[in-house]
Amino acid sequence: MSGKRIIITGAGASGLVAGIMAARAGAAVTILEQNDRPGRKICATGNGKCNLTNLEMPKDAYRGSHPEFVSHALSRFTVHDTVRFFSELGIYTVNKNGYLYPHSGQAQSVVDVLCMEARHLGVKIKTNEQVQEIRWETSPQMTQKYAGSGSHIWKVRTQSWTYECDALILANGSKASNIPGSDGSGYSLAKSVGHRIIKPLPALTALKCKGGFFSVWSGVRTSGAATLCINDVPLKTEAGEFQLTDYGVSGIPVFQLSRYAVRALDEGCKVSLILNFLPEFSREELDAFFQSRAKNSPYKNEKELLTGLFPDKLIKVLAAEKNIPDAVYAFELEVTGALPFAQAQVCSGGVDTSQVDPETMQSLLAPNLYFSGELLDIDGTCGGYNLQWAWSSGACAGRSAAGQTAGGHP
Ligand SMILES: Cc1cc2nc3c(=O)[nH]c(=O)nc-3n(C[C@H](O)[C@H](O)[C@H](O)COP(=O)(O)OP(=O)(O)OC[C@H]3O[C@@H](n4cnc5c(N)ncnc54)[C@H](O)[C@@H]3O)c2cc1C
Repeated sequence: MSGKRIIITGAGASGLVAGIMAARAGAAVTILEQNDRPGRKICATGNGKCNLTNLEMPKDAYRGSHPEFVSHALSRFTVHDTVRFFSELGIYTVNKNGYLYPHSGQAQSVVDVLCMEARHLGVKIKTNEQVQEIRWETSPQMTQKYAGSGSHIWKVRTQSWTYECDALILANGSKASNIPGSDGSGYSLAKSVGHRIIKPLPALTALKCKGGFFSVWSGVRTSGAATLCINDVPLKTEAGEFQLTDYGVSGIPVFQLSRYAVRALDEGCKVSLILNFLPEFSREELDAFFQSRAKNSPYKNEKELLTGLFPDKLIKVLAAEKNIPDAVYAFELEVTGALPFAQAQVCSGGVDTSQVDPETMQSLLAPNLYFSGELLDIDGTCGGYNLQWAWSSGACAGRSAAGQTAGGHP
């Protein structure tokens, strides 16, 4: 038993797992949550069904100034550890093409089992407690009492109380979404004790584009590939279903590219998207395909030849272009902005990971301070990767804060 008193700011995905791991390692844990109940953002995940992880782990699943920062935590608390951990808590997962969800189809059940386990372990979850200030003080007698914890205590002030603890885990999440509690206050708390914050910007969000025709294609869902260009240089291509909107374009491929687009716009770069509505064809194949359709149906005009390929509203937009095959293959849009934090699923940016130990999630600047989850400058792609980061970093921070050496079994 470590006997350490640990406070965690935020009863979200990473804070709850951190609390469970720290309590399992013998710490006395209190989680302070400003909302009236824990895990509100978890409840919104995966359209309320919670895509809690993914069996595939592509190399570029995580982004940030130092994306390699995730490696240690993800190797200490892997996807398989996640499945076993939740299975032991009562979540039977279903696999949809590698994307894992609770069989209940309800994200709330993920929150429920985490809270049941936390409470069973004696973790105190105090709701309606907004952490407003943190500071550490030197306490000479602490060195004697808890070997290895150092001679410091943390004071954590909420609107109603000042708590004391031997180790503090900041698990406040980001300012993405309109879910209550997503106020970005974790950035100020981290900054107040000397941590650098990489400017938080919306990520996994839709992009606004320049053009006068968006009301024509608004509401269309169609598959394709989008290539993001920064200053006219192609950076990345993502395929999947687009949602064409009255301000530009949305959908998973756009979400995946959005963090790069938003950061490039913030740096003053020219940002464009090239949409390919038939990416399964090469340019030559596409020309041949259109020629054969025209030969087959010489009585159809150019616009009529698109019937059967695309939804009506998209045909109207494509048919207005000078060269239809060009428009189908490379429909260029100038990106002017993104939907704001309230509509974004996550943030890029956050606590600079170069000031945090990737093996323990411990601050390299302040004593006995730890971080977890989206508060850090790490953002995952769509598909369960953000929650996996929350579980892995939370497990790592909780165990380390309790004094358990890295590598312990989940
Ligand atoms: C609509 C939507 C859908 C998503 N779907 C998925 C998905 O299917 N799969 C996936 O992997 N990811 C998904 N995500 C992302 C995922 O939910 C987050 O990355 C994850 O919840 C981050 O965990 P966290 O612990 O860092 O933060 P959070 O889960 O946001 O928890 C932070 C907690 O801290 C509390 N808090 C903040 N500041 C304070 C303070 N000062 N005092 C007290 N409490 C405070 C907040 O109220 C909150 O409860 C989705 C996000 C959104 C918005």
